[in-house]
Amino acid sequence: LVVLKSVNKHFGALHVLQDIDLTIATGEVVVVIGPSGSGKSTLCRTINRLEGVDSGEILIDGKPLPAEGKELARLRADVGMVFQSFNLFAHKTVLENVMLGQLKVRKTDKQKAEEKARALLDRVGVGTQADKYPAQLSGGQQQRVAIARALAMDPKVMLFDEPTSALDPEMINEVLEVMQQLARDGMTMVVVTHEMGFARSAANRVVFMADGRIVEEAVPDQFFSNPRSDRAKDFLSKIL
Ligand code: ATP
Ligand code: MG
Repeated sequence: LVVLKSVNKHFGALHVLQDIDLTIATGEVVVVIGPSGSGKSTLCRTINRLEGVDSGEILIDGKPLPAEGKELARLRADVGMVFQSFNLFAHKTVLENVMLGQLKVRKTDKQKAEEKARALLDRVGVGTQADKYPAQLSGGQQQRVAIARALAMDPKVMLFDEPTSALDPEMINEVLEVMQQLARDGMTMVVVTHEMGFARSAANRVVFMADGRIVEEAVPDQFFSNPRSDRAKDFLSKIL
């Protein structure tokens, strides 16, 4: 579903993505981990073209990423993204946040968009918050709204970049549970996270990055119990 072939990207002199080859199958959950600055966020951002690449190819459903215009808006809808900072529209209600993309990008009629938004808000457990503004919600609730907003576009794949890193500890689990459920429902997901419990229980594959490269890829059990590279061993010894 998502294919990256020899992707390279620089920020000035910094070679932030180096010959990245990665294939993500439909329904697969891939957790990306690695030290700070290793290129995890940049990798996510290139997949929905928030960042361009210098060389290499990225294909979604066999098609290269569009560069601009309506095609790009549709790509962004097909590739849902959830950030560390929830990025909701502050001056729109929760319900409006989840309806907006459906109306603008998918051209859904208003009634259908509202029905879908309410159903999704229920699904992520914030149905009763629909008429509030984002600032009136807890961080965990806001992040679940952000997930509902992305899901409202019927994405082919969901990218999560440290979705729980900005949350107070007691709110982390409510967001991880929504993500677990999504994984069980068969959503294709790329998740950058430090939540190793989530990686163990939800991931089909762990991708370990360091210095802009994919150093190691393995199923979670194998990666956590028997990492092959010294970089991964060192990283795991610091976080586990
Ligand atoms: P973290 O775990 O801290 O989120 P990360 O693995 O997500 O790190 P990236 O955010 O992808 O890392 O950044 C990789 C490198 O690229 C870092 O050295 C960062 O400083 C640099 N970088 C990221 N974005 C930009 C930018 N827009 N301009 C210049 N340098 C950037
Ligand atoms: Mg990051």
